[in-house]
Amino acid sequence: MHDRFIGQEFGNYRLLHVLGQGSFAVVYLGEHIYLKSFAAIKILHARLTSDLQESFLNEARILARLSHIHVIHILDFGIKEGIPFLVMEYAPQGTLRQRHPSHSKLPLATVAAYIKQISNGLHYAHGKKLIHRDLKPENILIGEQGELLISDFGVALIVHTARSLHDAEDVFAGTAPYMAPEQLRGVPQFASDQYALGIMAYEWLCGTRPFQGTIVELYKQHLFVPPSPLREHVPQLPSTVEQVVLTALEKEGDRRFTNVKAFAAAFERACRQAGTILPDAPLLILSKPEHQISPLSPAQHDPQILALKDPQSQSDIFSSTSAQNSDTTLVAPESMFKASSSDPNATIPMVDHSSRSFLGTNRPHVPRYKLVLGVGLVLLFILGTLLTMMFNDANSRGRERSGNAISVTPTTMPPALPSPSKRCRTGSISSNPIYQGNGYAYSNGGTYRSTSKYCNGRVYFVFTSAPPIANTQVRLCVADNVCGNWVQYTKVNSKLLIMENLAPGTLFHLQFRGYGAVGSYTVMGKLYY
Ligand code: ATP
Ligand code: MG
Repeated sequence: MHDRFIGQEFGNYRLLHVLGQGSFAVVYLGEHIYLKSFAAIKILHARLTSDLQESFLNEARILARLSHIHVIHILDFGIKEGIPFLVMEYAPQGTLRQRHPSHSKLPLATVAAYIKQISNGLHYAHGKKLIHRDLKPENILIGEQGELLISDFGVALIVHTARSLHDAEDVFAGTAPYMAPEQLRGVPQFASDQYALGIMAYEWLCGTRPFQGTIVELYKQHLFVPPSPLREHVPQLPSTVEQVVLTALEKEGDRRFTNVKAFAAAFERACRQAGTILPDAPLLILSKPEHQISPLSPAQHDPQILALKDPQSQSDIFSSTSAQNSDTTLVAPESMFKASSSDPNATIPMVDHSSRSFLGTNRPHVPRYKLVLGVGLVLLFILGTLLTMMFNDANSRGRERSGNAISVTPTTMPPALPSPSKRCRTGSISSNPIYQGNGYAYSNGGTYRSTSKYCNGRVYFVFTSAPPIANTQVRLCVADNVCGNWVQYTKVNSKLLIMENLAPGTLFHLQFRGYGAVGSYTVMGKLYY
């Protein structure tokens, strides 16, 4: 699917194969044409106009200056034929999400080690006035020596720049299950990264995240619903440990720990008080030999192969030695005893009003009208959710909920549904030109507000024209990076289900993308909602 870049050169690197793909980018293994060293090349799904190229380069330059043992290093960056790319240190052991698939429960000692390493990297970047904004297990890579490496620092904002989104859509960046309330309101702080780390700790300890559901439900819960006590899921968990995690998950940033390092220290203290033996040096993960990865074999990046077995038994969770019984070995190599000289020890204020840097805003530059829009949007979500609860039938209420931000599995409308033209509000939509040249291109299809309840919160899109060769896709977004799955054009007049559980009144927009064709094109279609 993304094979067309393979063999091409980006900067000094020739692309060998795809390592993985996220919602903004595809990541390739690249080989330096002279040094023959490997790197991960992240190619963004965007084509920059000339005025955006400078912003991208400025922001990437700031990210490339980060240098810490627990932050992935940006080696280079550039723009090729309008397509922005970042060259990163290659992390041969994949991500923490691949290492511990959803529903894994980890021993306390492992969680403490992870929190310590991640908080060290975050604290360093916070000292440089950078907020991550999209911390999640998918963005924690595992280095050659098993050390954790935070990736995608500030990349959420780079993507905003690269996509040149409209102001109203520029309020959000991040991944909904991990996003702090203030970030959802459009005002991320350093403490928002602590909140995301708190959600990760909760997930590792309980095997489940505190908040589940559709995007609208997640927003409401992050903002207003206290997370359920961890000991409801894991009764053996020491209450002191539970209290530390719940503090990191406070709704108000200033009720959380002063900084991420204080969170990690409190977590470690609580573990020791509970009798868990923690080594003095950070724990590193080493795979069993059969899991060692050659960068040249794409098949080994299959999560099925990378994901080592986690200790699942609850009795293991509080044992300091349980990790040694699993397939993952935790060790403390000598190199890790050295503290990074650039790691700041100073306490960082929660909000630095003097900072106006686009990337490093501890209080980002968000115009007042955007805040009003952000708060308004959130209120709409909440209002919408309440209305949905009143109007939706029991059937829609009982629908299975996904742990991801949005889950839309079926791509074709079930035949039993009534004719959308009679039951749903409809409108004709055409995209902006969505493809020019060689690569993905996006188009925002405009902004809509769903007011109809006839479709029971479902939204359908019917392509009335799209070139089949272009692999055109459509998705529905309620904010930037808060979108349903991409749904592929199949044929003219196919009714594609692009969203479920959308509350009446929700403001949304469509995105279209395409690749594989030459020249630009516009798709036409009808929206039913
Ligand atoms: P999203 O971008 O939607 O938040 P994501 O973080 O999973 O999701 P990417 O950052 O584009 O998406 O990464 C896609 C995949 O590429 C990762 O899951 C990982 O498997 C792989 N990957 C990314 N960076 C590296 C790297 N530096 N070394 C090795 N593999 C990498
Ligand atoms: Mg990532």
